[in-house]
Amino acid sequence: MGDQEKDRLRKELDERERGEEDSFFARQNREALERLRAGGHAAPAVEARCPRCGAQLQKVDHLGVVIDCCPNQHGMWVDHSQLQVLAEREKNAWLAKVIHAMSFAKR
Ligand SMILES: [Zn+2]
Repeated sequence: MGDQEKDRLRKELDERERGEEDSFFARQNREALERLRAGGHAAPAVEARCPRCGAQLQKVDHLGVVIDCCPNQHGMWVDHSQLQVLAEREKNAWLAKVIHAMSFAKR
């Protein structure tokens, strides 16, 4: 086997290893994304009830996130993933206000 042949094989091996690494990370990302998607829809199958009056909680859309609310105004319930989405939306709204204020200050 000549040196040229060895170099070629080594290069080919390197590329194959890199390719496998890429697909490993691609698979990891895909799995993480699937877990995220599953978590995002992990709404309890059982019907939630208000701990104070026992009324069946009603689904209410708040900033695009559906949350459980007591029909008798005892409160709202959000799970962790819903809270994260809400926090993100609120943060964006806050940030949008700052950017807006800054653009006015420049004038
Ligand atoms: Zn209630």
